[in-house]
Amino acid sequence: MEPFTSDRLPLPRNMIENSMFEEEPDVVDLAKEPCLHPLEPDEVEYEPRGSRLLVRGLGEHEMDEDEEDCESSAKLLGMSFMNRSSGLRTSATGYRQSPDGTCSVPSARTMVVCAFIILVAVSVIMVIYLLPRCTFTKEGCHKKNQSMGLIQPVATNGKLFPWAQVRLPTAIMPLRYELNLHPNLTSMTFRGSVTISLQALQATWNIILHSTGHNISRVTFMSAVSSQEKQVEVLEYPFHEQIAIVAPETLLGGHNYTLKIEYSANISSSYYGFYGFSYTDESNEKKYFAATQFEPLAARSAFPCFDEPAFKATFIVRIMREKRYTALSNMPKKSSVTMKDGFVQDEFFESVKMSTYLVAFIVGEMKNLTQDINGTLVSIYSVPEKIGQVHHALETTVKLLEFFQNYFEIQYPLKKLDLVAIPDFEAGAMENWGLITFREETLLYDNNTSSVADRKLVTKVIAHELAHQWFGNLVTMQWWNDLWLNEGLATFMEYFSLEKIFNELSGYEDFLDARFKTMKKDSFNSSRPISSSVQSSEQIEEMFDFLSYFKGASLLLMLKTFLNEDVFQRALVFYLHNHSYTSIQSDDLWDSFNEVTNKTLDVKKMMKTWTLQKGFPLVTVQRKGKELLVQQEQFFSNVKPEIQPSDASHLWHIPLSFVAEGRNHSKYQLVSYLDKKSDVINLTEEVQWIKVNTNMTGYYIVHYADDDWDALIKQLKINPYVLSDKDRANLINNIFELAGIGKVPLQRAFDLIGYLGNETCTAPITGALFQTGLISDLLEKLGYMDLASRVVTRVFKLLQSQIQKQTWTDEGTPSVRELRSALLDFACTHSLANCSTTAMKLFEDWMTSNGTKSLPTDVMTAVFKAGAKTDRGWSFLLSKYTSIGSEAEKNKILEALASSEDVRRLHWLMKSSLNGDTIRTQELSFIIRTVGRQFPGHLLAWDFVKENWNKLVQKFHLGSYTMQSIVAGSTHLFSTKAHLSEVQAFFENQSEATFRLRCVQEALEVIQLNIQWMEKNLNTLTWWL
Ligand SMILES: [Zn+2]
Repeated sequence: MEPFTSDRLPLPRNMIENSMFEEEPDVVDLAKEPCLHPLEPDEVEYEPRGSRLLVRGLGEHEMDEDEEDCESSAKLLGMSFMNRSSGLRTSATGYRQSPDGTCSVPSARTMVVCAFIILVAVSVIMVIYLLPRCTFTKEGCHKKNQSMGLIQPVATNGKLFPWAQVRLPTAIMPLRYELNLHPNLTSMTFRGSVTISLQALQATWNIILHSTGHNISRVTFMSAVSSQEKQVEVLEYPFHEQIAIVAPETLLGGHNYTLKIEYSANISSSYYGFYGFSYTDESNEKKYFAATQFEPLAARSAFPCFDEPAFKATFIVRIMREKRYTALSNMPKKSSVTMKDGFVQDEFFESVKMSTYLVAFIVGEMKNLTQDINGTLVSIYSVPEKIGQVHHALETTVKLLEFFQNYFEIQYPLKKLDLVAIPDFEAGAMENWGLITFREETLLYDNNTSSVADRKLVTKVIAHELAHQWFGNLVTMQWWNDLWLNEGLATFMEYFSLEKIFNELSGYEDFLDARFKTMKKDSFNSSRPISSSVQSSEQIEEMFDFLSYFKGASLLLMLKTFLNEDVFQRALVFYLHNHSYTSIQSDDLWDSFNEVTNKTLDVKKMMKTWTLQKGFPLVTVQRKGKELLVQQEQFFSNVKPEIQPSDASHLWHIPLSFVAEGRNHSKYQLVSYLDKKSDVINLTEEVQWIKVNTNMTGYYIVHYADDDWDALIKQLKINPYVLSDKDRANLINNIFELAGIGKVPLQRAFDLIGYLGNETCTAPITGALFQTGLISDLLEKLGYMDLASRVVTRVFKLLQSQIQKQTWTDEGTPSVRELRSALLDFACTHSLANCSTTAMKLFEDWMTSNGTKSLPTDVMTAVFKAGAKTDRGWSFLLSKYTSIGSEAEKNKILEALASSEDVRRLHWLMKSSLNGDTIRTQELSFIIRTVGRQFPGHLLAWDFVKENWNKLVQKFHLGSYTMQSIVAGSTHLFSTKAHLSEVQAFFENQSEATFRLRCVQEALEVIQLNIQWMEKNLNTLTWWL
């Protein structure tokens, strides 16, 4: 999946590893999460054996047979609450094990007590059961230092549910699903039936699978031997979104069975599962559309299934639709039959073996453009009126598909590949096999209104989703703890393929920027190892974050640079060939690398120091003659002693690269390997300056001794071009991050960017604008307007000549064009260099032409923002927003509307987007972030989030990247203790699961960091600037 975030940068818990699927990691995260329970309820499974229940506590002492029987009998009587931490035998009153080990016959008094206890137990179960968003996992209902004890699952019909774990048992394997669906897009309901062919891997009595929100009307069961259909009982346990089919006979290992479930359900009104929505077309007619978004856990809401990525099976999909609609699914259409009632049933070919989260289907009015590539039909679909905007996507897809097939040495296995622009879609895109779904703005490209940034976005998102057809679809992670294997590899390939076939787009600039932002997040104590244990739905949702995507991709970039491109490619090809159509863990990837490196380097050992530890190293270097002293420690943004863990034993195996210039002006490069705390590296000669982490391909921050910083600053002033633009951007980022934690004085950071007047490349300038922009934004929000404008003036003086050189056109290379957008946006936002006047003039002309006059696309946002400052301009922009067909133009207008200084308008925008009337709800997180960034809206955005929290959670799901983005976007510019307490109190008053969300903890850390930053630097800035 490609998450969608408002700053146009795609973004993008803790369980006990399930022993059935995962092994203990070799390297343990040294900064353990607090509050681990001695034994979680999820670790206990119930298994009926004949007429009795056995309780098996994994990892605790095994009970002997008699104990088991007695305990189990107690459970049957409803006494299911045992505090595991205080011992199994401290069970309920009225039940006692007799000394000889046999169960005593209960007395009448005991029976009365038992009945009372049953009543209490059932009530407690009901109360717990009804608690919203509460799960029996570590991240669920628990209170600190309080063990929940065991909960006996009870099905909705009051019977005991035979499975207590969140993860499904592995006794049954699904082989094939036949899914029939009949959706009604106007009533937003559907009828469905699913026939699942199963294989029992071991003897069992129940079939446990996922299902949620279904009205199940009939379940039948058939064994391959008897071939006689029998109606069977189904037990539902909504709490884990599971159902249990009670088989009429013992299922025997190695035998096949068939299960048929008939049901009906609502089409979802969120963005999750099989969801529907309406939109108005160009002639203002209301239209209906339905699509799917299953990743990670929503296939189960569309049809009962084994909804875990490791349960791969094949799928046959049949959809009943009205004639005017088109239906699409993963595979090509096999047949279309018109029924007597006028409906059409489309049947799609049986799919390849795949995970449930990749199943997809769409029903709506669409048109397409198609091209055949060596037997694969590539089609781009959109609603009919936007078919003119799909050409760029088709061209791009064709090139990328050929590139990936050659690079991976594996043909794309399906006969067709559809890419569909969905009119209302939460994520950026989703890689469903053969049917990739997109937001309109990440697929459609309009020649007149799409900017170079839009072109890059569309290209990147297509590249990401195509890479997933191999990484994720063909080879899938076994469980969500290794989501980074899907997303890190797809993100890496996204940038890698851009560099190879769309080099002119300078995708590396975006990747560099993404690495800086990811490291910022990874430097917080609330960060996590990219391979992290997860179990609850919130934990799984939270995995779709910057770390899975960009830390994953950054680590692969580091590895590729260290190994060289050829070895890297061979390892990936080996991995894909070896694990096609199966599911894997991180170790499988590293084993493939070790196979190719042939033990010359233990890649697994090296990479585990990066994937199983959170954070990254700060490498400190100091020159001493021809020697370079290097040492590593963990980098923390937050230096408050109560936040920084004292444990200093984190160690990474770091490929250290250097570029240096000798006394005789000879430039040379070096690579070394640091796998201990400190080391001494011998340089061949004394150098004038040294820059560590060449091109910032390594995932670490570098701090130099004073003399070495001075040498670099001096060199940048003399001739910055001895260093690459990546290195210059890297130095700017590192020095501001180090200044933030007090390792370097802030003046020195400003000293370093003093050379910017000579800078011509985009990455160092946008990096400096980002860092200094953050400082002026924080000062402004605290009311230090004068100081904020002094920061802006200082930066303006540095960049003045570049700003004045800019023309209001679309000329130049993509990189030059993006620099123009950034510089003019900076100048116009701060009313510098007549920028606003020029922008206003262009806006007036555009408005006079009723929006028909074409504007340069790269500066369109700056022009619209200037126009949105007036009442007339804002209203005109809004009227255009509701009537035009170009998503690219709409986005630029929306950004301008949300940059207004009129708080009533900002409030209206957020409200309208939440309701989804004038502005689609998919835009809400973008609007909140944009509003939250400006002075007039930053308090308003937070108020809006607080007031509408429940609605937001309902629409976007707790933990999702949209919610992560909303929380960060509405709080990241707070820098007072009052705001810190307020944000903390607000989230504490929600559920504990909410408070413990990583994005909430991160938001609190960001505010703390801002407070700290001000304490450290405010005085200095006041006298010095
Ligand atoms: Zn993805």
